[in-house]
Amino acid sequence: MPLKDRLINMIELDGPMSVSMYMQTCLHDPKEGYYATRPGLGRDFLTAPEISQLFGEMIGLWVVNEWEAMWRPHPFTLVEPGPGRATMMMDALRAMKMTRAGRECLNSMQLYLVEPSLSLRAEQATKLAEHTPQFVSHVDALPDQATILIANEFLDCLPARQFVKRGKTWHEKRISAHGNELVWGIDSIQAAKLPNPPEDQNEFEYQTGLETFIESLDAYVDNGLRLRALVIDYGTDDKPPTDTLRAYLEGKQVDPLLAPGASDLTVDVDFAELVRLSKNFGLTAYGPKTQGDFLLAIGAEARMKQLIEENPDRADEIYARALRLVDPKDMGTRFKVMCFSSKGLSPPAGFE
Ligand code: SAH
Repeated sequence: MPLKDRLINMIELDGPMSVSMYMQTCLHDPKEGYYATRPGLGRDFLTAPEISQLFGEMIGLWVVNEWEAMWRPHPFTLVEPGPGRATMMMDALRAMKMTRAGRECLNSMQLYLVEPSLSLRAEQATKLAEHTPQFVSHVDALPDQATILIANEFLDCLPARQFVKRGKTWHEKRISAHGNELVWGIDSIQAAKLPNPPEDQNEFEYQTGLETFIESLDAYVDNGLRLRALVIDYGTDDKPPTDTLRAYLEGKQVDPLLAPGASDLTVDVDFAELVRLSKNFGLTAYGPKTQGDFLLAIGAEARMKQLIEENPDRADEIYARALRLVDPKDMGTRFKVMCFSSKGLSPPAGFE
């Protein structure tokens, strides 16, 4: 039965569905979920590593730098949640091979990938075979050793709940069914287990997975392990997102209720909430700063010039693609970068 019909059945049996349940099902349903069955990365949407090799390479150089700043742990875990087509990791590992410190770092590295999608796991395993990646289903399942985590466009696909204020009370937005169509609705009763509602907004969105993620990182640090975790994603850093649920199909934005399972679903990440959560847990956090500032601070311009010198016939293309990553009119400011860290280490590269 098509996912849409199954969703309608579920709603008829259980009542209107939270937005987070809808996202979770549309993305990860084993039979028809978007990531589980037809991840269209590069076709439905384009991420920074797919735009320019410079992105993954800079991340690779950052990893070597942080491994040194953590006093060269041996062995250590390099982990990426949500590696997609493994482009960023391939570029990163290749860049690491270019320097002596990078090669030493690779000798100490154990590569882990957190990926729920079996089809993406297969692609990642093939592309990264040289580094024998191990797969885990959650960051909590990683070994107890020094860890460097890198995640690009991973947090934005964690399911979000949505709330609206009616008078003085907050209600959860839900998806219900009308005949053969999915439609938006609002709970008549007051929302239960409401996370910190903003005082000056009548609407907000909340990804419960952000707290779980920070909690997992904090558990590492509490165990006395050295940690650096770099996250890059689009989102806000001043106020909570309102209604940012979007669906992408073949490069176009479509109605999120139109093609469940066939389109990618995503929301903006609330970076102010990440800052607040890390404070609550006592986890050291740096940033957010913009992707453009971060990449330039860690030397993206020099690496771009080097790439152009090595490939003079592709100079214009290399420049244009690199520019997209840092240009404020493109990905440069909309994307933010944050780093979470264990205590007692110097500030991470890009955040000094
Ligand atoms: N980082 C890649 C891909 C981004 S797409 C890039 O920048 O191109 C999102 C990735 O996160 C996919 O690999 C998807 O399968 C994975 N993903 C989605 N939900 C996840 C979850 N709960 N845990 C781990 N990975 C997840």
